[in-house]
Parts: sequence; C-alpha cells; structure tokens
Amino acid sequence: MITNLVWFRNDLRIRDNLALYSACKNEKSIILGLFVFVPAQWKFHSISYKKSKFIYNSLVILKKDLMKLNIFLYFHESTTFLQSIKYITEFCKKKKIDNLYYNYEYGFFEKQRDILVEKKLKNYKISSYGFHSSTLITPGTIKNIKGNMYSKYSNFKKKCILILLQKKLVSLTILKRQNTIIDTSHFHIPIFKFPFEKFNTQIFPIGELKAIKKLKFFLKRKFNDYDINRNYFSLNSTSMLSVYFSIGILSPIRCFLILHKYYSYTKYKKFVENCSWINELIWREFFKHLLYFYPKLSKQQVLCDWEKNIKWEKNKKNLNAWKKGETGFPIIDSAMKQLNQMGWMHNRLRMITSSFLVKNLLINWREGEKYFMSKLIDGDTALNNGGWQWIASVGLNNIPYFRIFNPLLQSKKFDKNGTFIKKYIPELKKLSAIEVHNPSLWNKETKKIVKYPKKIVSFSETKKIALKIFKFAKCKL
Ligand code: FAD
Repeated sequence: MITNLVWFRNDLRIRDNLALYSACKNEKSIILGLFVFVPAQWKFHSISYKKSKFIYNSLVILKKDLMKLNIFLYFHESTTFLQSIKYITEFCKKKKIDNLYYNYEYGFFEKQRDILVEKKLKNYKISSYGFHSSTLITPGTIKNIKGNMYSKYSNFKKKCILILLQKKLVSLTILKRQNTIIDTSHFHIPIFKFPFEKFNTQIFPIGELKAIKKLKFFLKRKFNDYDINRNYFSLNSTSMLSVYFSIGILSPIRCFLILHKYYSYTKYKKFVENCSWINELIWREFFKHLLYFYPKLSKQQVLCDWEKNIKWEKNKKNLNAWKKGETGFPIIDSAMKQLNQMGWMHNRLRMITSSFLVKNLLINWREGEKYFMSKLIDGDTALNNGGWQWIASVGLNNIPYFRIFNPLLQSKKFDKNGTFIKKYIPELKKLSAIEVHNPSLWNKETKKIVKYPKKIVSFSETKKIALKIFKFAKCKL
C-alpha cells in the first residue's frame, strides 16, 4: 500500500487543491495531511494576530472536513524553519511516506525550505511533488520575449487574458472518501504559541463552504454594480474575499467557474477584458507571478536601483500618528482606524493612506508594509509588497512618482457625505458634509472646537518636497 502525505500551507481548502487532488488520485493509497506551524516565520512576515486566529479557526474546520474524507490532519509546531525541515523528514520516515504533495509558496525562505525538504526526502527515496494552486495561470509561464516577467501590467494582463480565453478552466472532481484508517488519538489542534486577536466572524465567516457562499452572494448581489460602486468605501460594494484568497481557502479558479455559471455571456472575450472585478483578480495574479520571479521581494528588497538615493525620514512621531489614525486628515485617520479595528481596509483607502505615508511623510514604504501586515487579516506577502512598491513608485510596475493622492480630494469624491469618516471618527459627527473633510479649516472659521488633532503636515508643501526628492533620486543614477 502506498502512503501519500499532503503538506498543507497556504492552501487550507479541499476544492481545487491540486496537491490534495493529486495525492488522492490513486484510490488505493493511504492519505495523511500535515500542517507545520513555524511562529518564527510568522514573526518574520509580521503576521497579524487577527490572521493568526483566522488561520487557527480555519485549520479546525479543515481538519473536520478532511476527517469526512478519512484523511487525518496532523499538526506540529516548530520553532524555526530548519527545525520544520527536520520534523517533516522525520515524520515521513516514521509514517513510511512514499510521496509528498504540496502547493508552492513563493517567498524567498519558503522556496529555500522546499528545496531542502525535497533534497532530504530524496535521500530516503521519498518523492516530492509541488503544484501551483493559488493562481489562475502557472507563474513563470507569462513572460516577455527575454523570458522575464512583463514589467508593464497592461502587457501582462493582455497575455493573461489570451491564455484564459484559450485555456479551459476546469473544476477538479470532488474528492471521494479515502480508505485510510484514521488515527484519532490526538484530535485537537493545540492553540498556537502566537498571539490571537478576535475578528468579526459575521464579516469573515470561517470555512471553505462559507467562503463559497460569500462569493456567490457577491456575484448575485454586488457584482453587476461593482464597476460603478467599488471605489465608494462606505458602500460595502467589494467582495471582501481577500482573507480567503490569502490563506487559500478560496481559489481564483473557483471564482471564474462560478462566475461562468452565473453569467453565461455571449461576448465572453469582451466581458473578460472589460470586467473590473476580473481586472482585480488579474492584479492579484500579477503580484503573485512577480514574487515567483523575484522571491527577494519577500525580504523587502526592490528591483530598481535608484531607491537607495532617497533619504527617508525617520520621524517616529509622524509614523505613530499615521499608525494610530491621528494625522489630522480625516480620510487617512478613519481608514487607519478601520485597519486597526477590523483588520481590513478598502483598496482605495490602502492607496490613499500608503501614498500619504510614503510621499507626504516621506517615511520608508517598508515601515508601512510591515505595519499593514501586522494588522491585516488578509495580509499577503505578494499583494502587500506589490501594493506598497507600486504606491512608492519603486516597483517593477508603478504609479509614476509624481502621482500623489490628495486626501482632501479623494475624501470629497469618494465619501461625499462623510459617512465613512463619521463611522470611525465619531468626534466629527456634528460637522456638515462639507466641513467633515477638513475640520481644521472649520475650526479656524467658526472658532468652534472639535476634539480632533491638527494636521501633522501640510499636503501641498510635503508634495513639493516629495517631487524634488523623487526626481533627484531618479536623475542621480
Ligand atoms: P475586491 O475588490 O472584491 O477584489 C477581488 C480580489 O482581487 C481581492 O480579494 C484581491 O485578491 C484582488 N485584488 C483586489 N484589488 C487588488 C489590488 N489592488 N492588487 C492586487 N490584488 C487585488 N490585498 C491583500 O489581499 N492582502 C494584502 O496584504 C494587501 N495589501 C495591500 C497594500 C496596499 C498598499 C495596496 C494598495 C493594496 C493591497 N492589497 C492587498 C490589495 C487590495 O487592497 C485588497 O486585495 C482588496 O482591498 C481586498 O478587498 P476585496 O476582497 O473586497 O477586493
């Protein structure tokens, strides 16, 4: 009898899980599952305490779902990456594993770890099989004529759509109950030695089935208006599925398949090319592929060589004001409070707040990247790094350095009545829809006091300085 081990990592699902599916192909084999938790890895990536709790709860559900298939999920905690490699090797030897199946992760240290595991197992004649199961298209296959990653998103998108239109996305058949004899001697997953923080389970319900339900709800109720509504952060018009993608509870392939079922468009090509929601999924794809090509991005390194010419400000006071949502810019502050309370932030707000930190406070984007990761429930190395390098204009595909989001204009445009601001800064509730975007101005004119911080910097002055600094940094090369 053959024994296969599925090593779960960032793929806590049963459906469309290539590693799991491939391990189960031979119906006669015994299938075991394993999850190895490495707190040091989470610390390195600044994983948030909300995400930690979300992963723990998701693992408990996954374990139950796997049980129904007769697959027992083992759990182990290793203090370091090296120890985890040793543990997996020992585990495979002890359980007489013939084949190891896993889905790839693209971070620098994760790649190194996988290479070492494969090498070690080979010594014991254990075969390893890796799969790409978190993207629509296999990373590394969309490349320019030089064999590199496209540096322009638009070119990547074109190629991606071309492949998507040619390729038939298929759902992997539902797994059948396996013949494995279950070891129920240690059923519970021990509480992680990593802090937990509560999150809203109404907004982020746990488990694969709940995620699929949430996806279907979005596609039925919000998808049609997504293009018009997606930027208005008080409308709650986006899918809020990022947390499920980030730990692989949901695959983008499933999104496409269900989308297809709901909307059988006759002009499919046009639909795929113009659909804003698909565009966001392709942005996700872009950053995943980028990390695959350049794993060093997970170590906060850049691909451009002029960033070293920027002298970042080391102003702790301003950084803390930004973190706490006390900058005196209501849109920035309400967004940061949303992040701190909920562990999630709307995409436009992520752009406005990150632009402010990097271009107006001139604080190193790495500080922002780290802080976002430490608070986000959907923290994702590829997307977070991609987003921060994009906004800081230091990535492969960037916003031009001279495009700096104006918080006041953004606020007036996308939160016209101040609904969002007032939700997170109740002190501003008594201000009118016009005043709420700029309370310091209101203070000056009416002499009435609102308990709200003064602006920590002037937008126009800091913008001028940023333009000079970025221009100089690029020209100095
Ligand atoms: P929807 O609007 O419903 O979009 C559907 C899916 O498309 C998302 O779930 C996400 O997987 C993907 N997507 C949407 N917008 C983007 C984008 N701009 N770039 C790449 N993929 C996108 N997303 C994360 O999942 N984790 C992060 O750590 C993260 N950090 C970010 C940091 C910065 C500075 C910026 C500007 C963006 C970041 N994003 C991150 C991308 C984006 O903000 C979130 O994916 C999105 O807000 C999640 O909400 P949603 O699921 O409702 O998205």
